[in-house]
Amino acid sequence: MRRPVIELSDCVVCEVCVEACPAVFLLNDAGYIEIIDMAEYPEACVDEAVRNCPEDCISWEEGG
Ligand code: SF4
Repeated sequence: MRRPVIELSDCVVCEVCVEACPAVFLLNDAGYIEIIDMAEYPEACVDEAVRNCPEDCISWEEGG
């Protein structure tokens, strides 16, 4: 399964990803961006977040 991952040490919590793709990205109570667990991620929406992240810290991880 392909899933988005965030390099949290680079994330500045600007919430651009949350705005681009609120079904997938969430600002949690601890103040970190979280990726919601999904069986399958909406590619277009995640790609938009990847493109617009000012820190370039979102990427796709290929995994099983
Ligand atoms: S767009 Fe990038 S820097 Fe901004 S909150 Fe999302 S992951 Fe963090």
